[in-house]
Amino acid sequence: MTTASYKNYSALEAAELRVREAGEWLKLEDGLIETIVAPRRIIEVAIPFRRDDGSRDQLTGWRVHHNTTRGPAKGGIRYHHEVNREEVIALAMGMSLKTAIANLPLGGAKGGVCFNPKDYSIGEIERITRRYVSEISSFLGPDKDVPAPDVGTNSQIMAWIMDQYSTGVGHATPGVVTGKPIELGGSLGRESATGRGVVEAAALMLGKMGASLQGKKIAIQGYGQVGSWAARLAAARGALIVGLSDVGGTIHSAAGLDLVAIDKAFREGARSVCDTGVGDVVARGVAGSTAVFALDCDIVMPCALGDAVGEEEANNMKAKLVVEGANGPLTPTADLIMAEKGIIVIPDVYANAGGVTCSYLEQCQNFAHLTWDEDEVNARVIDLMRAAFERFYAFAQESKLPNRLAASVLGVKTIADAHRMRGLHP
Ligand code: NAD
Repeated sequence: MTTASYKNYSALEAAELRVREAGEWLKLEDGLIETIVAPRRIIEVAIPFRRDDGSRDQLTGWRVHHNTTRGPAKGGIRYHHEVNREEVIALAMGMSLKTAIANLPLGGAKGGVCFNPKDYSIGEIERITRRYVSEISSFLGPDKDVPAPDVGTNSQIMAWIMDQYSTGVGHATPGVVTGKPIELGGSLGRESATGRGVVEAAALMLGKMGASLQGKKIAIQGYGQVGSWAARLAAARGALIVGLSDVGGTIHSAAGLDLVAIDKAFREGARSVCDTGVGDVVARGVAGSTAVFALDCDIVMPCALGDAVGEEEANNMKAKLVVEGANGPLTPTADLIMAEKGIIVIPDVYANAGGVTCSYLEQCQNFAHLTWDEDEVNARVIDLMRAAFERFYAFAQESKLPNRLAASVLGVKTIADAHRMRGLHP
């Protein structure tokens, strides 16, 4: 299987093919690749709940444990109206690779409930969350499966998950989720960790090219938890954020956007970067958000949703480096165009691993009943990201594989080694 044959595959097919391609490259024996491709467990649940008007309603949710050979399942829970079984499996597979590449003693998982939280009240979201947790609770636990926030979920939802699980087992169990509020055993530094990792990934790759972030022009899609922190931390290291986009469209300033003014406008009620009065509005609306990829810049960081960069965006891209803050932001077709244009891609399974790395540190603190200060957490995230980068970069150089395939091979090899050492029961 070559990368060329990925064109027009779905996210799950592409994820599976990438793992299979890695298995073929590694010449895995004895059908081991089938064990690595197959999710250990796919749980689909009905979530009946009461609407605020007293009527009964029902949603569908999933929790997928993809690989649990190296440790407890780990991965976020997504609340989104387009989430589906296949997407959750693909994202869980990505988590197995991510924890393996980052060399964390964890497996891979993902969860999702198909609904748009914006259409439901806080009370309804709490009832949905509690019923979803009840339905999957026998498969959760600090040594079994530890969820975290993802698109559409946040620290409040993690607090309800912790409470619902704790009520069931009869004692407070903070370690059942990460991304919790600090008051319940959450970790300082979690909010910025993914963006911090994205920026570190860019700096490390530039370092290998004899360059640095100083003066580099960066365009970022998404100004949420990942994108906004990536922007602030890159700017703090001397980069110019020349373009930003979100659901409201794209803004641009060749001299660098004023992030302090943007954050102030958000605090005062702006709903999109386009309403902040900063920079020039290049395009409006969700469709206008992809205009950010065509801006004149050195580095692009897609930090919104999957499949954001397709054929057209890839063809228009002027940057020389893409750092995937989001999960799966480049379509397989875009990947081919990146290769043709010689644009270096730092793949999601490494680039956005700062979040799960910090979640792992949160678990460590919960297990040991410790709290580390923010500087200590940030320093540990950076240390772990650097160690993983050196391992990944050395492997990519040695194997002469393109970055995405090199990352997949490294992840699959790490998982395969664990399977071999554990043996096959019975
Ligand atoms: P978020 O909800 O905080 O922010 C999302 C941002 O993307 C917002 O600015 C939103 O306006 C924008 N956006 C959403 N849909 C869009 C669209 N269709 N077009 C353009 N912009 C759009 O989410 P987040 O936590 O920052 O996560 C972003 C991505 O990063 C997701 O793919 C997520 O899976 C991935 N990720 C997040 C973390 C984490 O720690 N939060 C860790 C790893 C990966």
